[in-house]
Amino acid sequence: MSAPTVTSVTAASPAARAGLTVGDELLSLNGQEPRDVIDFQRLSDAGDLSVLVRRVGAPLPRLVRVDKAAGEPLGVEVSSAVFDRIKTCDNHCAFCFIYQLPKGMRRSLYLKDDDYRLSFLYGNFTTLTRFTELDAERILTERLGPLFVSIHATDPELRARLLRNPKGATSLRWLQVMLDGGIEVHGQVVVCPGVNDGDAFEDTLAGVMDRYAALASVGVVPLGLSRYSNEPEMRPHTTAEAAAVLDTVDEWQRLFRRTLGRRMVFAADEYYLLAGRPIPTARHYEGFPQHENGIGIARAFSDAFTRPTAEGPGGVRHGFFSAVDAAPAEGYRAPRLPTVAAGSDERPVTVLTGAYGARVLAPLLEGHPRPDVALCEVPNDFFGGNIGVAGLLTGADVARALGHTAPDARCLLPDACLNEGRFLDGLTLADLPRPVEVVPADGASLRRALDGTSFRPACAA
Ligand code: SF4
Repeated sequence: MSAPTVTSVTAASPAARAGLTVGDELLSLNGQEPRDVIDFQRLSDAGDLSVLVRRVGAPLPRLVRVDKAAGEPLGVEVSSAVFDRIKTCDNHCAFCFIYQLPKGMRRSLYLKDDDYRLSFLYGNFTTLTRFTELDAERILTERLGPLFVSIHATDPELRARLLRNPKGATSLRWLQVMLDGGIEVHGQVVVCPGVNDGDAFEDTLAGVMDRYAALASVGVVPLGLSRYSNEPEMRPHTTAEAAAVLDTVDEWQRLFRRTLGRRMVFAADEYYLLAGRPIPTARHYEGFPQHENGIGIARAFSDAFTRPTAEGPGGVRHGFFSAVDAAPAEGYRAPRLPTVAAGSDERPVTVLTGAYGARVLAPLLEGHPRPDVALCEVPNDFFGGNIGVAGLLTGADVARALGHTAPDARCLLPDACLNEGRFLDGLTLADLPRPVEVVPADGASLRRALDGTSFRPACAA
């Protein structure tokens, strides 16, 4: 087990007054060793603290007294979220995107985690196949929710087959335990055509209604398939299959509304784009509980672009860290890029985005009063397959697309393409052949960037 290591200290905070400094390892707080930042947050919330600190170069750890009020933030950020071992996934799903990554990418991208703590902290989905009695006890005692659970199928045999793990047949019993204990849980079904669509999908939604009706929501997303998949059974949806999934979702939304008074199940934006159907209204999404899972993003984006006061994704904020400071975001939900104050800029604009984003943006840009705004759809040559989201664009693909933009244009890129300033292939903005401005991936920010009224994001020189 490692100890939380201080990566920053807030000026004039209790930690700063007590002399804690970057690099200090906080071995225990009031005699207890934190297993993760959930423990750390709880322990550091106490009033006056005794912190056992190991400092680089010091021969022995020493006890530091920190004067603070109960509930007052300690004033440090620490280096990671989990100080004991992250539970890794013991499944081997044929649709797993990690198996579809080429070799040689950043190591962190290959980490298959299946740890309820990362579900709570970051909104990662867990299958519960590595879940234990002790985990359940902690979740119920500490009220660790919302959590995010991969369902995929409620039929035990089919679920075990999808996860390629016999434990998949029984691990949803833990979902029942959490729901019975009043924990807020959101589910997801990744639909693989020919495997868990059609009757199997109907059966899954019937299983949700029958056994897991206390779920807060269920997101239905299509499998993502890259050119590196070696799974013969996996293939993208056809247009007709996408439409069939939407029909099933519609039908079950009606049933859920009739029985529970809410829709419960929501289809990913990709399904509407694939099937060529209009994106539902904001009201349909009932507070956008699965916005970060690609469900309702197109609607929230369009509404924010056209009507700045529109109802947005104000429902569930995925993950504890979206609400709590002192978040070690690196590796999971790291900041994209800072923004800087904008000046007026009269140059024509080109907006770059992935294939799906382009379909959402095209009508919005056509309706924008500026006549000099162009859209540049960036093909995802790196992953190929059916990968069309901006978040999976690489620097190499963006660089290639920039070669086709007007030389005098301001080029805008959504921040979803970057993680701490890096593309998935490790390139940075400085590696691109020309400057681009990075815009937060929401409609209001793009609108402001086009109007030049507020902020302009940091840009590669
Ligand atoms: S549970 Fe998730 S991480 Fe594990 S194999 Fe399946 S898709 Fe991959």
